[in-house]
Amino acid sequence: MYRLEHALKSVSGVTPRIAKELAHLGLHTVEDMLYFFPFRYEEYTTPATLEQVQDNSFITFEGRIESIGMRKSKQRKMTMTEAVVSDGSATLRVVWFNQPYIAKQIHVGDFVTLSGKVSATRYGLQCTNPKYAKTARRKEALQYRGLTPVYHSTAELTQQQLRAITKQIIPSVSQAEEWLPREIMQRQKLMSITEALRHIHYPESIEQLNKTLHRLRFEELFLLVVQSAFIKQLRAHQTARAQTYHEEEMKAFVQELPFALTQDQKKAAWRVLQDLQESQPMNRLLEGDVGSGKTIVAAMALYHTSLEKQQGVMLAPTTLLARQHYATLRSLLDRHGIRVGIYTQGMRMIGDETVSREKMHKALKQGDLDVVVGTHALLGEEVVYASLGLVVIDEQHRFGVEQRKTLKERNREATAPHLLSMTATPIPRSLALVMYGELDVSLLREKPQGRQDVITRVVTKKEQREVYTKITQEIQKGRQVFVVCPLIDPSDVLGVTSVTQEYEKLKKKIFPGYAIEMLHGKLSNKEKETIMQRFEANEFPILVATSVIEVGIDIPNATVMMIEGAQRFGLAQLHQLRGRVGRSDMQSYCFLFANEEIGAQTQQRLHAMEQTHDGFTLAEYDLQLRGPGEVYGVRQSGLPPLKLAELTDMELVSSAKEEAEWFVKTQTNTTAPQAYKKIEQQRLTTHLE
Ligand code: ADP
Ligand code: MG
Repeated sequence: MYRLEHALKSVSGVTPRIAKELAHLGLHTVEDMLYFFPFRYEEYTTPATLEQVQDNSFITFEGRIESIGMRKSKQRKMTMTEAVVSDGSATLRVVWFNQPYIAKQIHVGDFVTLSGKVSATRYGLQCTNPKYAKTARRKEALQYRGLTPVYHSTAELTQQQLRAITKQIIPSVSQAEEWLPREIMQRQKLMSITEALRHIHYPESIEQLNKTLHRLRFEELFLLVVQSAFIKQLRAHQTARAQTYHEEEMKAFVQELPFALTQDQKKAAWRVLQDLQESQPMNRLLEGDVGSGKTIVAAMALYHTSLEKQQGVMLAPTTLLARQHYATLRSLLDRHGIRVGIYTQGMRMIGDETVSREKMHKALKQGDLDVVVGTHALLGEEVVYASLGLVVIDEQHRFGVEQRKTLKERNREATAPHLLSMTATPIPRSLALVMYGELDVSLLREKPQGRQDVITRVVTKKEQREVYTKITQEIQKGRQVFVVCPLIDPSDVLGVTSVTQEYEKLKKKIFPGYAIEMLHGKLSNKEKETIMQRFEANEFPILVATSVIEVGIDIPNATVMMIEGAQRFGLAQLHQLRGRVGRSDMQSYCFLFANEEIGAQTQQRLHAMEQTHDGFTLAEYDLQLRGPGEVYGVRQSGLPPLKLAELTDMELVSSAKEEAEWFVKTQTNTTAPQAYKKIEQQRLTTHLE
C-alpha cells in the first residue's frame, strides 16, 4: 500500500511525463491525489470500444499494440509510424506523422491509452496523430459498475490515466486520520474521513455520494470559518487605546481637501473614527471599488491616531504602492506637522531624508515618527513601536491570528492596535459573511464626481485591426497603454511566456514604431520599480504585464487597458484591471480580446463588462455563474480553494459557524490535536504567499 506522503511518481504506471502533468495540477503526493476530487461522474457500464468507432469522431480508448513500424516516404519527405491496436472487440489502424521516436517507445504487446481523431481512409478507419500513453496491463478494471469519476485534467492526461491512479491509491485512505472532534461528527451526522475519501472517487450510489459530499463540504466550510472564530475570540480578549475624538481638527482636515468627500466616504470615515474611540480594537474592512477613494479615509484615521500621539502604520502589498501612498500621505499630512516615513526593502526615508536602518528603527521605537508606510518588512521582528495605535492594510489578503499577535508584541505598550483593512475586490454580502465573519464592513460604492465610465468593448479577431488603430491614435495624443496577459499555462506562474510572446508580437507586428516594455514575475523588485517609474514619467507608451502584477497603481495618463485572453479572467478581476485606467478626466478605454473560440455563456459574461461599471454587480453576476473559487483567486482573497462547498448553502454555513464557535471555546491543542494540526496546515496554505 502506498503511504499518503509517497510521491505520485512512485505509483505504478506513473511515468515521469505523467508525474510532470500531475504536478501541473498541483498533485505531488498520494494524499494530494486523494484530495483531488472528481468534478462530476459518469454512469458508465461499459466504456467505448473500438467496435463502436465511427468515421469522423474523437475517441479515447485503451488497447494492445498488435504491430508497429516506421517508414520514410521519400517524395513527401516525412516519416510515418503505423500501428495496429486491438482492444479485444476490434482493431484500429493508427498513424503518426513525423514522430519517428514513437516506434522506439511503444512496442508490440504494450498496452496504451490513445486519444485522437478517427476518420475513414482508403485503408479503412484510421486514428491519426493521437496522443498516447503507455498504461499498465488492463485487468478487471473496466468491469467496474456504478459512478465513474471525471476529473479536471490537462490536455495531456486522460481520464483513464487519472482513474488508473486513483484506483491504485484508494486503499491508502485507511491511513487518513480523522481530525474532526467526535462531538461534531455526531451532532452533524458526518461519515468518517476514510469513508469519505474512498466514496468521493468511487461512490456506489447517488445516495452514498450525497452523504460523502455532506461530510467533505462541512469540512471545507468549517476550516474556513474557524479562522474567523479564532480571530473573534482573540479580539474579545484584547484591549486597544480608546482615542478621544478630535472634532475640530478633523473638520479642518476635510475642509482643506481639494475636493468634497462623497457620501460613502463620509459615512465610512465616521464609522472608522467611532471605532477608534472604543477600547476594543477596531476590526473593519473598507471595501471600495478601484478609484472610490479609500486612501483618504485611511489618511483620516492615521491623522486622528497621530493627534492622539500614537503611531500609525500603513502596509502595502508592493514597494511601488508603498511609494505612491507615501507621496499621498505626505501631501495630506506634512502641513499638519505629522512626521511621515517610508520603510521598504529598497527605500527608507523620514520626510525628505534617506535614513539608515538603525535610525529608522530608533525613530519608530522612540516615537519620533508618527506615520510609516511600507511593505511587510514593517512587521519584522526587529521593528518595535513606541505606541502603535493603528494599522492600515491596503489591498492585502486577511491578517491571520499569528500576525495579530505579532503586532501586539511589536508594541511597547500593552494594548493592541486598531486595524483597518482595505480591498478593492468587490465581495458580495453572502460571501463577506463567511469570509469576513469577524469584521465590520464599510462600503464605498459611489465614485468621486467627474469620473467618466471607461468605454469597454469585447473585441473579436475581425475587429482587432480597428482597435489597434484606435490605440495608435491614443498614443499619438500622448496617452499610455497597459496590455495585460493571462497566465496561459499553470507551469508559467511568473507569466514570462505569455508576456514575452505578446511583447514580441506587439513590437514586431503591431506597434513597431513605439517603445514597449514588459513586466513579469521574473524581474527583480528593483527592475520592476524602475520600469514602473519610467512608465509613470511617460518615457514609453506601452507596458505589457501579467495580471498578478501591481494592482492599485495610479497612472492617470494611461487611457487604454487592453486585455489579452480576457475569457480567462473573472469579471471581478477584469473590473479591477479596468480600474487602472479612467483615473483622470480623459476618456479611457478597455478592450477585452477574446482570442479563442468562446462559448455563448463566456461571451455573455464578457459583454456584461460593456454594460456594467459597478464592481459589485459584476462580482455578484460572476459568483452566480462561476462560483467563488473561480471568482476570487486564492491569493487575492485569502479564501481557501473550496472544492465542493457552496458559500450560498446558508444552512451548512451556519452549522459550520456554530461548530467553529463551540470548537474555539471548548477545544485545545491537547483535547483535539489533529484538528489543531489540520487548521494550522490550512492557515499556512491560504494566508501566506
Ligand atoms: P482607491 O480606492 O482605488 O484606493 P484612491 O484612494 O487611490 O482610490 O483615490 C483615487 C483618486 O481619487 C485619487 O487621486 C484621490 O485623490 C481621488 N479622490 C478621492 N476622493 C475623492 C473625492 N471625493 N472627489 C474627487 N476625487 C477624489
Ligand atoms: Mg488604493
